[in-house]
Amino acid sequence: MRAVYMYGAGDVRVIDVPEPAIKNPTDAIVRVVRSCICGSDLHPYHRMKPSETGRGMGHEFIGVVEDIGSDVSRVRKGDFVIAPFKYSDGTCEFCQEGLQTSCRHGGGYGEDGPAGQAEFVRVPQADGTLYVVPNNASVHVDGDSKLLPDLLTLSDVYGTGFHAAYKGGAAPGKTVTVIGDGAVGLLAVLSATQLGAEQIILMGRHQTRTNLGKEFGATHVVPERGAEGVEHVKKLTGGDGTHVVIEAVGNEDAYTTGLEILRPGGTFSRVGVPQFKGAPEGFDTLFWKNGTMTGGVAPVRAYIDRLLPAILNGSAHPGRVFDRSIGIEDAPDGYRAMDQRESLKVQLTFP
Ligand SMILES: [Zn+2]
Repeated sequence: MRAVYMYGAGDVRVIDVPEPAIKNPTDAIVRVVRSCICGSDLHPYHRMKPSETGRGMGHEFIGVVEDIGSDVSRVRKGDFVIAPFKYSDGTCEFCQEGLQTSCRHGGGYGEDGPAGQAEFVRVPQADGTLYVVPNNASVHVDGDSKLLPDLLTLSDVYGTGFHAAYKGGAAPGKTVTVIGDGAVGLLAVLSATQLGAEQIILMGRHQTRTNLGKEFGATHVVPERGAEGVEHVKKLTGGDGTHVVIEAVGNEDAYTTGLEILRPGGTFSRVGVPQFKGAPEGFDTLFWKNGTMTGGVAPVRAYIDRLLPAILNGSAHPGRVFDRSIGIEDAPDGYRAMDQRESLKVQLTFP
């Protein structure tokens, strides 16, 4: 089968590898129908050290169950499934608390071979991991591929954006700033809208993206960064900042901006994968404002039940974050396009 591997910074290849087989009785094999490239895949694209063996890429995919291990009982062959970006058993105490990313038996795809950007994926802990799209949706899934991009977002970006907004406390009467106009930031805007936030300020400078943010419900766009951006947000909020600040970038500038525009008593929710160390924690940051810090890696498996209905009834189209769709053979160009910001998010299709 064909699979996407990375061999070092900027070195993405599509190679032939053996199809995965059931290894443990709790595994399933999924034939991938759609996969995609994540903003976090760009981190190794920038700095991975050269590797002779390379590593399998990808952790977001949807598809059809082709085979199951002998202990798999809930998931069946032929089921159309959403695969969250981490696998989890669904039974340990963390899974039961809705924190599947901390599962005692969890992990990531491709630790020993191809991962989610491939024709087939071995999914460990299949019963806990895979979300079976309900029967009444199968007609739409088979017959109307327009739903597929929306369903694909549930494996990571939509759940991550929702996690940010939900943990931050977005709700009626609350004001929210989202820092970052990438796919996660834009879906945090959509989620804040769905949770009823009153004012949603999107900080981003790429107009096609911020325009989509407005369609997702942003009430204001702040294109400036740094001190100017802080001033603009304060002006829009009577000088106080917002109740909720969502940081969906992961660099230090975004983090410090977020601290400055947080309203006293507010909640700072982080979902940008941190690319820096030594964040300021002193008197002038959360302490003086009585701010709360939350967010983190999103247990997206926990949110699918809640987010799926609006997709199936057509009232939410999170899949609009995919602005390019390419075959798996063109994956190297997809990475390049996302890296150069020609594309917001790239979807991979399969023959
Ligand atoms: Zn677990």
